[in-house]
Amino acid sequence: MARVYNWQLGRDMEYLYDRGNPERQFAAVFNINRCIGCQTCTMACKSAWTFSDGQEYMWWNNVESKPYGGYPQNWDVKTLSLLEKANPGGQAWDTQASDPDNAPYGVYGGMTIFEAAAQDLAAGQQALGYNPTDREWRFPNIYEDTSQTWTPGAELPEHQAWFFYLQRICNHCSYPACLAACPRKAIYKRPDDGIVLVDQKRCRGYRKCVEQCPYKKTLYRPTTRVAEKCVACYPRVEGNDPLTEREPMVTRCISACVGKIRLQGWIDDPKSPLHFLVRQEKVALPLYPQFGTEPNIYYIPPRWASRAYLRQMFGPGVEEAIEKYSKPSHEMLGVLQLFGSTQKLIFSYEVTDREAIGFGKQGQEVVRVPIDEPVIVRPETHLNIT
Ligand code: SF4
Ligand code: SF4
Repeated sequence: MARVYNWQLGRDMEYLYDRGNPERQFAAVFNINRCIGCQTCTMACKSAWTFSDGQEYMWWNNVESKPYGGYPQNWDVKTLSLLEKANPGGQAWDTQASDPDNAPYGVYGGMTIFEAAAQDLAAGQQALGYNPTDREWRFPNIYEDTSQTWTPGAELPEHQAWFFYLQRICNHCSYPACLAACPRKAIYKRPDDGIVLVDQKRCRGYRKCVEQCPYKKTLYRPTTRVAEKCVACYPRVEGNDPLTEREPMVTRCISACVGKIRLQGWIDDPKSPLHFLVRQEKVALPLYPQFGTEPNIYYIPPRWASRAYLRQMFGPGVEEAIEKYSKPSHEMLGVLQLFGSTQKLIFSYEVTDREAIGFGKQGQEVVRVPIDEPVIVRPETHLNIT
């Protein structure tokens, strides 16, 4: 066991290995407020990566309707219940102890899935988890568009009846539970970009990763008898595709997104727009940070949903994130325009009075977008009513 620092929890925690500290860490921000639930991302991923018999249940990207939907069904409620059982009433945050660099959301006083597993050594797990049943894996979009019927005391902009789409891929965690769980050491985190991959030649299909990934983003494929998962489209990220003149390129789910809700970048590079949204503006938050894996997909929470529900999902930074998103700074408005603006990976950016500019790996301009769309008034001669 190693003692490692988890900045999302604002404290040290136990993990099986030292922090890998990759050269750069793959990350993305998903803006829930803009998602239309069209599942284009889901199908773009599926058609790029999964094929042949057995692919039917391999949804590396899925979009579920919260609060009731989930793939597998109830994945989050089940893991949260296990944590609660391991540490009754203890999953609380001390928000007074926040510090912008080391503990931006305060300090988490509860147990992570790693700490809860260490409490019960007899269970033989590195991380607290469970194996979903076949029944729970049946429908990737169960309860799609089903709303919570009434939230007591909700006032606008929060709605009494609400649902929202949660876009889910592997979080390429800094402390991956799947990697710690694997007795074959078949899962590894790449030192150059922090992408987490399964070496399928080493995998023997023990499903320990499926059991212990709290997000249930490793999938066991019965036809091949090995695990598979989102690969963060690593050949695109490496920059091998002629379409972008061999410049690093964003993933398929991100480039295909109709709502332009996704932006990919590097979380630990202060020049990256990702770093700005997550670490500076704190408008994008990790999903269930209390699990302790330090996930690297961040979400701008939906403005209309129950704050209590959002807090248990994204931690104590929810109010500040929604406030910032509702009254964005000029710089944030500019960065929001960069979402879905190019297939090339944006390494750094600049926001001027009128435009947002994205730059590539070598500092060259890859995209330029206006911050305000021009307003064009139809001339009277073209009016079709008088
Ligand atoms: S989300 Fe799950 S599968 Fe992905 S790196 Fe984290 S623990 Fe592993
Ligand atoms: S493609 Fe974009 S808008 Fe459509 S469901 Fe996926 S994330 Fe949402």
